[in-house]
Amino acid sequence: MGSYSVAPFPIHRPRRLRQTPALRRLVRETQLHPDQLVLPLFCRSGRKLRAAVNSMPGVFQLSPDELVREAAAAVKAGVRAVLLFGIPDKKDAKASGAYARNGIVQQATRLLKHELPELLVITDVCLCEYMEHGHCGIVHQGKTGAHILNDPTLKLLAQTAASHAEAGADIVAPSDMMDGRVRAIREQLDQQGFTETPIMAYAAKFASAYYGPFREAAESAPRFGDRRSYQMDAANAQEAMREVASDLQEGADIIMVKPALAYLDILSRQSRVPLPNSGVLRQRRILDD
Ligand SMILES: [Zn+2]
Repeated sequence: MGSYSVAPFPIHRPRRLRQTPALRRLVRETQLHPDQLVLPLFCRSGRKLRAAVNSMPGVFQLSPDELVREAAAAVKAGVRAVLLFGIPDKKDAKASGAYARNGIVQQATRLLKHELPELLVITDVCLCEYMEHGHCGIVHQGKTGAHILNDPTLKLLAQTAASHAEAGADIVAPSDMMDGRVRAIREQLDQQGFTETPIMAYAAKFASAYYGPFREAAESAPRFGDRRSYQMDAANAQEAMREVASDLQEGADIIMVKPALAYLDILSRQSRVPLPNSGVLRQRRILDD
């Protein structure tokens, strides 16, 4: 914030600019517009299906036909972007449904781009919805318990992102918090010719009980343990800065802090910090969720 002096009262009367709605709108520093909103949608196979999500009244798991209707209503209301989450018919230990050519998100993406070409389709890139154990990576059961394997998971995430791009996704959004996944995804996209597909990274994603209702909607709650070995510790602000910096260096085009409301200090810090080697962070869009 710049430092400038303000004339004292009664020369300066801040209330002068608060007198009418038009005046207040004219000088409003922050504007919220439907253009800036993204509607999360949950899709699963079927027809004419709207399965209520009890934890979030008004939110439904939708079959592809209903998904198109919901997205069309959003476009009509001025919201031009959706973020797709898929609930597969079958889950397994290698999340096959995540990167299947005809997986639910791939099908839904093709349909949405066909029916509503101007709609921005963003796809969630993660494995938890497709894994029988509900974790975001490959699980190895060792003597000391279950471990989420980082590097072998990268390959599946990259494959998932590329299959979404192939289906027509406008942006891919990795939410898994594995180390190095933005780079792995960027490389895979580029290799397959999707050099223009942006990556929106959940860069600083904190382990949080706030995700409970969302996991019910996406049917992605872990069957054992929790996500603390890959999602961030709530107390770590410095680490959040490093996570964001490394995602940008790996090629993220948009970064995200999640959950937003409880981490406004992190959002505020991120927007002020110059990045080593690669320009200024504030040139990137910083989104909350
Ligand atoms: Zn996940």
